[in-house]
Amino acid sequence: MSGREPAPMNAVTPADAELTAAERDRILAKAALFSPPPVTTADGRRDLVGLSREELVQELAALGEKPFRAKQLWHWIYHQGVTDFDRMSSIAAPLRARLAERFVIARPEAATVQTSRDGTRKFLFRFRDAQQVETVYIPDPEEDRGAVCISTQVGCTLSCRFCHTGTQKLVRNLGAAEIVGQFMAARDSYGEWPSPKDDKPRLLSTIVVMGMGEPLYNYENTAKALRIVMDGEGIGLSRRRITLSTSGVVPMMDRCGEELGVNLAVSLHAVTDELRNEIVPLNRKYPIAELLAACRRYPGASNARRITFEYVMLRGINDSEAEARELVRLLHGLPAKVNLIPFNPWPGSPYQTSTYEQTAKFAAILNEAGYSSPIRRPRGRDILAACGQLKTESERERKAAG
Ligand code: SF4
Repeated sequence: MSGREPAPMNAVTPADAELTAAERDRILAKAALFSPPPVTTADGRRDLVGLSREELVQELAALGEKPFRAKQLWHWIYHQGVTDFDRMSSIAAPLRARLAERFVIARPEAATVQTSRDGTRKFLFRFRDAQQVETVYIPDPEEDRGAVCISTQVGCTLSCRFCHTGTQKLVRNLGAAEIVGQFMAARDSYGEWPSPKDDKPRLLSTIVVMGMGEPLYNYENTAKALRIVMDGEGIGLSRRRITLSTSGVVPMMDRCGEELGVNLAVSLHAVTDELRNEIVPLNRKYPIAELLAACRRYPGASNARRITFEYVMLRGINDSEAEARELVRLLHGLPAKVNLIPFNPWPGSPYQTSTYEQTAKFAAILNEAGYSSPIRRPRGRDILAACGQLKTESERERKAAG
């Protein structure tokens, strides 16, 4: 025996940390291969949306302007929501004209907007290079608030078996402007500007990063966009109102917790590696034990801020009572809640939704063990806007032969 204390469960040893750092670098390098195009219009003007505060200061310094101008612009762009320099009344007309010559304040173009019978609204947003993603606003049926579900990639690399997006190859990552732009354009659609201050009610009150793509495979752009959204002098949504959902990109989870501190949701969907390897193929790289260890380390997770586990109910596949009991065992000691999601079919999908009775039995076992486990009411199914149903026509350009 070496006489050393055994490392506590879930602790990261130096060797682990080195491996994780190397893996993280690999993930970031891969993300760079799918970078978004530059944020300029066809006539060469730069989009100011998506720039960090520091970048905005630099852009203005290049025009000979002082940093306070960046603060003014930030207020107009993210608090007032204006897209026209001429409406910036605190800035003198000659400077407004110079700004308009060099810059734009853009939004993604809403190619289509569909509103479901239940009020859910799905936007198909088209970007400058004609790539498209879907964004969904899900109103709370009882109160004047709701969640905006935003996308972070065009397509996805992960091919989760129950997910329509997973059948669409990754085309590219979205830039910060495109990520924050989805939220801003959704807000335009409801006219919710200027940004409501402090705890004033908001129609678009939360963000769930659960749309198309795996956000932790596009971490830098996602983080930059969320920092803009959280900035108190602009949109000002607190980190408690933002939930990032991952399929379990373990090496990036610690960084997300430390740097952003947003709520975490994990797409679990199975309690054995054998089944999860099939339903969420990323599990082959980061199996359940590693994933749950990363959840236990997640900074800020507490009883007040529980980690959400998403569990799609697939009839006869993952919905038995024995599996519910195993889930209780796996989650032991974790501040967790489980969202049970009735499977939302899409054309050609390989699964069926669990019966309501079976879902209720599954939920009862979790509830009895002290885990809140609401059965999510499907929203926007009639317009294919429900969980796992998003998909666009965007395709990766084929390389020219030869
Ligand atoms: S569930 Fe998320 S990570 Fe999995 S394929 Fe669908 S979009 Fe990608």
